[in-house]
Amino acid sequence: MTKTRDIRVRFAPSPTGPLHMGGVRTALYNYLFARRHGGKFLIRIEDTDTARFVPGAEQYILDSLRWCGIEIDEGIGAGDGTTEKQGPHAPYRQSERRDIYIKYAQQLIETGNAYYAFDTADALETLRTEAEARGEKFSYDHTVREGLETSLRLPADEVAERIARGDQYVIRFRIPAGEDIKMNDLIRGEVTINSSTLDDKVLWKSSDGLPTYHLANIVDDHLMEISHVIRGEEWLPSLPLHYLLYRAFGWSDTQPLFAHLPLLLKPTGQGKLSKRDGDKMGFPVFPMRWISPEGDIAAGYKEDGYFPEAFVNLLALLGWNPGTEQEIFSMEELISQFSLDRVSKSGARFQPEKARWFNHEYMIRKSDAELTDAFTPILAEKGIAWERPKIERIVGLVKERATFPGDLWELSSYFFLAPTHYDDKAAAKFWKGENPARIAALKEVLAAEVRAAQADNDWTTANIDRIIHSWIEAGGHPMGQVMNSLRLAIVGESKGPGLAEICEIIGKTETLARIDNAINKLKTATAAAI
Ligand code: GLU
Repeated sequence: MTKTRDIRVRFAPSPTGPLHMGGVRTALYNYLFARRHGGKFLIRIEDTDTARFVPGAEQYILDSLRWCGIEIDEGIGAGDGTTEKQGPHAPYRQSERRDIYIKYAQQLIETGNAYYAFDTADALETLRTEAEARGEKFSYDHTVREGLETSLRLPADEVAERIARGDQYVIRFRIPAGEDIKMNDLIRGEVTINSSTLDDKVLWKSSDGLPTYHLANIVDDHLMEISHVIRGEEWLPSLPLHYLLYRAFGWSDTQPLFAHLPLLLKPTGQGKLSKRDGDKMGFPVFPMRWISPEGDIAAGYKEDGYFPEAFVNLLALLGWNPGTEQEIFSMEELISQFSLDRVSKSGARFQPEKARWFNHEYMIRKSDAELTDAFTPILAEKGIAWERPKIERIVGLVKERATFPGDLWELSSYFFLAPTHYDDKAAAKFWKGENPARIAALKEVLAAEVRAAQADNDWTTANIDRIIHSWIEAGGHPMGQVMNSLRLAIVGESKGPGLAEICEIIGKTETLARIDNAINKLKTATAAAI
């Protein structure tokens, strides 16, 4: 690879189902790497495995990346959606590139690097069973290939005839025997594998009329001038084959550099985080809700109330670390700091409580206006349509304690609805002795002061506070008892921000009405209890 090579990376998902959060992380790291180095981020859809194709998966993948704020420069999802506008290497969907691959499969056959194999599934099954009976594992490799139904053994005219008459075949790569293959991984360093441990992988299936992943992937990464392949660790075992494929094509000099990302581990730290773990352990493993063609529903971060920025932030730190204590990163900060040499080799344990922590951190950093946008529809569903400045204020007062926008109602409902029930513990503790009478007296003072002031805008936090405190001081009343009783009357329990501010927001009429209501209801409740 020459030093001046343009940085071009790709995310190459197979549309076999929804994108798992590990897949989103792979896309994110590719995107960050591209942006960091002023390169291009491509999307290529690897859909040659027709048996595993799932309708809707491709759109889901694109929607998820868009939600995360990952922008596509080239390929599927780039431009205006037309094939011509996707970029210079269109089409970027492998099922539409069949003609391109035929030529390259042919080239490998002609150079002796690949061969036709006609073994039926039954014949291979028999070989497997026989090997097992001997206590061995069957491997389609240099030890057996010459004796099987392949173009290595059969005369050329018979091979041609079988193909012409429509016999099913596969094309297999001919792995050289006994060779040490030295590979380099940007995260793991140098890795050496002996080629004798590899089997002759299938590169083409006549049944699909399409190449398999291995052939299509190498041909496309070459033709699309990919500079770095950044992908999940599960592809590391394929790396020797990929090295050999580049060599067989004569492309070793320009082959991409490789980086295999560590696995995402279950919250227990034991084993790979799987698509089923979310349901079992009660957290989403998908970026967005997925409804399968069969109608099964899997939870998504988006619908569960996560902010895309929080989701991206938490994924970025699952496998990469900045080398500092910083934990909160905007996309711009990630772009300016991301580097592959700070990606770890060992698996990254996913912790659902840490995910919630990130969301909370973003929650408190969000502007009141933005949160009000999220909260207004929740209020509308409950038939509440307050003026926006008040809602913004309320949001600002309670967001500190929220993790998700959905928590805002629970934390602030008492602003919108007068209490219909009073917390038993708080009532037992404070609604006793002289307190009910004190609150009744205080209410009269509040009403009178406001009447005297004759103006709504005198009903301010500062004024209310002043009235309450001077009354307490003048009468020598116990501050804690009075304030807690008043809070019980207005909020129904012992929670919430500053009481005077609550009074201001709900308004004087409502405040006085709530006090009256509490005096009546709590009296009845206490009487009934006797
Ligand atoms: N299509 C492969 C996948 O689904 C891509 C692997 C690669 O990036 O080479 O993960």
